[in-house]
Amino acid sequence: MLGLMQDQPLLISSLIEFAAQHHGNAEIVSRRVEGDLHRTTYREAAARARQVANALDGLDLAFSDRVATLAWNGYRHFELYFGVSGSGRVLHTLNPRLAPDQVVWIVNHAEDRVLCFDMTFLPLIKAIWQKCPTVKHWVALCDATALPADTGVEGLVSYEAWIAPHSTAYAWPQFDEKSAASLCYTSGTTGNPKGALYSHRSTVLHAYGGALPDSLGLSARDSILPVVPMFHVNAWGLPYGAAMTGAKLVFPGAALDGKSVYELIEAEGVTMAAGVPTVWLGLLNHMAPAGLRFSTLNRTVIGGSACPPAMISAFKDQYGVTVLHAWGMTEMSPLGTVCTLKLPQQALPPEQQMAVLVKQGRAVYGVEMKIVDPDGHELPWDGQASGDLYVKGPWIISGYFKGEGGNPLVDGWFPTGDVATIDADGFMQITDRSKDVIKSGGEWISSIDIENIAMAHPAVAMAACIGVRHPKWDERPLLVVVRKPGAEVTREALLAFYDGKVAKWQVPDDVAFVDAIPLGATGKMQKMKLREQFKDHRLPTA
Ligand code: AMP
Repeated sequence: MLGLMQDQPLLISSLIEFAAQHHGNAEIVSRRVEGDLHRTTYREAAARARQVANALDGLDLAFSDRVATLAWNGYRHFELYFGVSGSGRVLHTLNPRLAPDQVVWIVNHAEDRVLCFDMTFLPLIKAIWQKCPTVKHWVALCDATALPADTGVEGLVSYEAWIAPHSTAYAWPQFDEKSAASLCYTSGTTGNPKGALYSHRSTVLHAYGGALPDSLGLSARDSILPVVPMFHVNAWGLPYGAAMTGAKLVFPGAALDGKSVYELIEAEGVTMAAGVPTVWLGLLNHMAPAGLRFSTLNRTVIGGSACPPAMISAFKDQYGVTVLHAWGMTEMSPLGTVCTLKLPQQALPPEQQMAVLVKQGRAVYGVEMKIVDPDGHELPWDGQASGDLYVKGPWIISGYFKGEGGNPLVDGWFPTGDVATIDADGFMQITDRSKDVIKSGGEWISSIDIENIAMAHPAVAMAACIGVRHPKWDERPLLVVVRKPGAEVTREALLAFYDGKVAKWQVPDDVAFVDAIPLGATGKMQKMKLREQFKDHRLPTA
């Protein structure tokens, strides 16, 4: 017997219509690439998303055709999120920080038909448009007046001129909720990037999951600042979650430095902000010397790479801001776990709470997890046994776009490539990315543990730990460090800082001081590049 509930597909268009109807006056504030602040509401954004849908219907596009964006976080990008997917096309968010050749490769692989870009990327578009034969329509996200007379790109139109003639009324099509909605390529540190193709159903369920109180706890009382780009796994789903809950949205545009982010937080009463650890380093480094405080911010979601405990303490002890340490992947839409305390843990002394809060956290309902040994046997949830982390659930990929890389699943589970422990309360902790683990004489050293300790040293701005060849031990840890401006610390002092914090054999063999650690297109440390740079480094112990 089937239940007698209405068979209503979960479609992305319903999110923006809900926001327009129930939170029509809630604001969407954007710092534009032009430099000024732009203000709109969900009511207007929905009207303009309908104009986008009408404009797309006017082009020769089929259902599921890809419409690409190359854009910062802003209201026009937000309108495209809903206009493109809502009308049955696939929103393909391109990462502008990739090398031009990689962008070309991805556009061609995705067979994008339309490409909408921020004016800051006009030079890039000029360089690549002739290499992208599938793209028939180029749209610059600006007013017609901002478009130079001769752009050098055939048929280029401004977004405003393109949507202006179209009606703000539109009957969103109803279709199978399993239809493709958006596409995001993995960073592809090994081999070519692969596409994660999200569906309407997965996106709406992920938005529900992300909004839960023990996830990101989104509400109509929030003012949300996604510093994480809308081209990095859909800004972790925040645009959808904000529309679902009616939260105010604040978009930072291209200004992601500490000063700009701080000023936006204060000016727009931001209560929650989200981004990778490197973004928050910039913010804290801007605030500390000037003795600045937050007046409204109560939590930050930090994920994408391990959040150093020193950062969690700095936010909590110095600014009264709770860090929600979160873990996920492009292949997981991306939310997997978020770290929030349970009732009994709230009664624990602060240092014991901190030991929990540094973990990547508990699974959001909708994500199943297990850890397995190299033979695939499940390991216990005792907080000690560490193994390969596998996941499954309705917002985790079943395969890559166009079947690239074959079937990624093992018995229906997706192997994340992360190594983790899970404790009896279900708190998962990543010990490492499997390829970053340092294998020293058969024992594993967690590069994250070693980095976290270095990051707690007052002279260290950024630290990465990598394995370097060693004749006896196979690999030994090398600590690569960027010092804070004006700060002094010696190799010996840094190594002594490890005394009593880790076992002696886990202490790095050497320290290399550098001016900068290479960051990838999503702001993560590129350890592959570091390993290449230091592949001939001679350890004093070798
Ligand atoms: P991406 O798909 O580019 O977002 O990368 C996903 C990978 O980033 C994961 O498999 C992890 O290795 C890493 N990652 C994401 N969040 C965290 C976190 N909170 N702590 C440690 N690693 C993380």
